[in-house]
Amino acid sequence: MIKFLDLQKITQNYSLEIKEAINRVVNSGWYLQGEENKKFELSYSRYIGTNHCIGVANGLDALRLIMKAYLEMGIMQEGDEIIVPANTYIASILAITDNRLVPVLVEPDIDTFNIDDSKIESVITKRTKAIMTVHLYGRCAYTERIAKICKDYNLKLIEDNAQAHGCMFNEKKTGSLGDAAGHSFYPGKNLGAFGDAGAITTNDPILADMIRGLANYGSHVKYVFAYQGLNSRLDEIQAAVLNVKLKYLDKDTDSRRSVANYYLNNINNINITMPKVKDWKAHVFHLFTILTPQRDKLQKYLAEKNVQTLIHYPIPPHKQECYKEMNYKIFKITEQIHNEILSLPMSPVLEENEMRIICDLVNGFKD
Ligand SMILES: *Cc1c(COP(=O)(O)O)cnc(C)c1O
Repeated sequence: MIKFLDLQKITQNYSLEIKEAINRVVNSGWYLQGEENKKFELSYSRYIGTNHCIGVANGLDALRLIMKAYLEMGIMQEGDEIIVPANTYIASILAITDNRLVPVLVEPDIDTFNIDDSKIESVITKRTKAIMTVHLYGRCAYTERIAKICKDYNLKLIEDNAQAHGCMFNEKKTGSLGDAAGHSFYPGKNLGAFGDAGAITTNDPILADMIRGLANYGSHVKYVFAYQGLNSRLDEIQAAVLNVKLKYLDKDTDSRRSVANYYLNNINNINITMPKVKDWKAHVFHLFTILTPQRDKLQKYLAEKNVQTLIHYPIPPHKQECYKEMNYKIFKITEQIHNEILSLPMSPVLEENEMRIICDLVNGFKD
């Protein structure tokens, strides 16, 4: 069977180094907010190109904390609106609604799966406070037009960089392009821990300081609580794992790009729409997604031939039970994507013979 993502195999590449790192933590007797955290925050902020990085418990918390901090700072008020792509993963939206802010959904561009920047200005109101760009599937969603809109309307730009570690816009990394970015190190992400982990990057020292306090029960001084905070910290063991894996991230990204390149060169089934790649540095291929109206049949056919594929995602956020009360309108492009999208196996350890098999099968698929 060709797995969608073989985490066991990925881990084998660095298992000795990781075991040593974990052992170091075990023997140190210090399990939270210690040396591994400090080291990771420093290395990751250097990697992304920001002055600050705060390690937190997961990617959802990273996004929640950014907006919670803006609320505490008086930059946002409850009920303010945040513009976000309609086809994002639910966590982007949950981070907004959890803060009693209002997600304003905007359709994506079908060619990039990222927010259609020509549709943003028409939804801006007096209550709009931020745009959350999501670098979905690993592709950079930042555009000069989005930057200009943020400037013209005085909006914060929040990046959801959960799927795009190492992705570039020109010479800058995603995660350094806006006012603040949330990152997830969920095991299946391009930079994955051995459990839940996340981080926030920013160049704003006041925001960074506020987030640090909010993530630590709302406290800057032990047992003194200035805010009603959360407990959201990055474990030392996870930080130790990330310190090892960060060193290999760029190499792994190159491997993902070779897989993508192979698929693009070898899949030629006219019933399948392949992703369009203009700038290879602006895509880190967290996922390799194709579109076809026969998606369910194709997935079943591949499964019968022992190729595992996944759907990211089967139901868009606005059609989820949890957001029933929002009474969202129809988002046609978003709904088309959710009906037609399929993610082929993608990982830095996919072998050429496996790619060959996948391409031959996909090419041989007839409706
Ligand atoms: C994974 C993910 C998150 C949430 O990260 P967790 O670490 O799982 O909480 C947020 N946004 C996007 C786009 C994601 O893919």
